[in-house]
Amino acid sequence: MKLPIYMDHNATTPVDPRVLEAMLPCFTEHFGNAASRTHAYGWAAAKLADGARARIAGAIGAHPEEIVFTSGATEANNLAIKGAARALAPGRTHVVTCATEHKAVLDPCAALAREGISVTLLPVDGDGRLDLERLAGALTPATGLVSLMLANNETGTLHPIAAVAALCRERGVLLHCDATQAAGKVPVDVGALGVDLLSLSAHKLYGPKGVGALYVGRRKPRLRLIPLLDGGGHEQGLRSGTLNVPGVVGFARALEIAVAEMAVEAPRLAGLRDRLQDAVVSRLEAVTVNGDPDHRLPNTLNLSFAGVDGAALLVGVREAALASGSACTSADPKPSHVLLAMGRSKALANASLRFSLGRGNTAAEVETVAAAVVREVERLRTNSPLWRR
Ligand SMILES: *Cc1c(COP(=O)(O)O)cnc(C)c1O
Repeated sequence: MKLPIYMDHNATTPVDPRVLEAMLPCFTEHFGNAASRTHAYGWAAAKLADGARARIAGAIGAHPEEIVFTSGATEANNLAIKGAARALAPGRTHVVTCATEHKAVLDPCAALAREGISVTLLPVDGDGRLDLERLAGALTPATGLVSLMLANNETGTLHPIAAVAALCRERGVLLHCDATQAAGKVPVDVGALGVDLLSLSAHKLYGPKGVGALYVGRRKPRLRLIPLLDGGGHEQGLRSGTLNVPGVVGFARALEIAVAEMAVEAPRLAGLRDRLQDAVVSRLEAVTVNGDPDHRLPNTLNLSFAGVDGAALLVGVREAALASGSACTSADPKPSHVLLAMGRSKALANASLRFSLGRGNTAAEVETVAAAVVREVERLRTNSPLWRR
């Protein structure tokens, strides 16, 4: 068993060897610029890129022309949110999003607010669930764009995007969906979801870092986006810059593998996740499971441990590579905005761990990690003035 055991797949994943194999010739043999129309090197690169575009489109039920390649989901979200909001008709620029979105959605919305665009942040309940009636109530005649994620990266909670889409369509409001965590783990079909814009990232599904895509639905009247970058007019003018051919080829292969293996891998991960949850929750008191128990990603488990110092817990569980419920980049750890929005206290949010399982994880690893977590929580509680019974 390789230590520390990697259980942080919602942060990033290793590149699958099959993906790497598909990418390698694009660095050396087929190195051409896909925009070079005058010679065979360019044509070969363009053919590879077109193939990748068609396969990614196919995997999510889209047309190839609806795929805009980006540097990742952060850029895709920025292009979708800023690009769409800035192109909306005056008087229809109100944007609605949710308190538990990724920073790559919240920060572009905050940037729009600084431009004078009004933004509404919807609350969630204790399980991170969205209230559809509350959403309906937030939509006004001035609303032009809604941005909601499919799956939450911290808790795995799944939002009812198809129902949200029906509501948005009824009101003539554009819907963007950050499906970065969902893709490869649960089915993502743009037709079934009914979204107008959807963000993806390759490195969350065993593809390379630095490549992603924005799905831009063809609709009438045409969905207008103001590009973020000015340059050569690549990607139908929506994303200038020489195409990352190895990246998009790897992205396509990664998505294809994830979709092909989902029927076997998703239940396997859910089984491991439930085993991990049971092993910890059954042996410890005062553990909170964060996330919607019925609508959750198969690989994600987020737990809060009352009476424990979160930073000490993360250090103590040295057998595993995990994420915590705080951004511990500064001396003063900032509790997760997602857990705070779900009503957790600052102390409890800080005393949280996110386990995100992936392809390499085994039952033996789950048992090792569970035992380490139980051991550390018990040890810290024994020494803690916060823990009184
Ligand atoms: C990882 C992640 C992002 C950012 O993706 P990058 O490709 O790393 O920019 C955005 N949204 C969600 C939900 C994520 O999990």
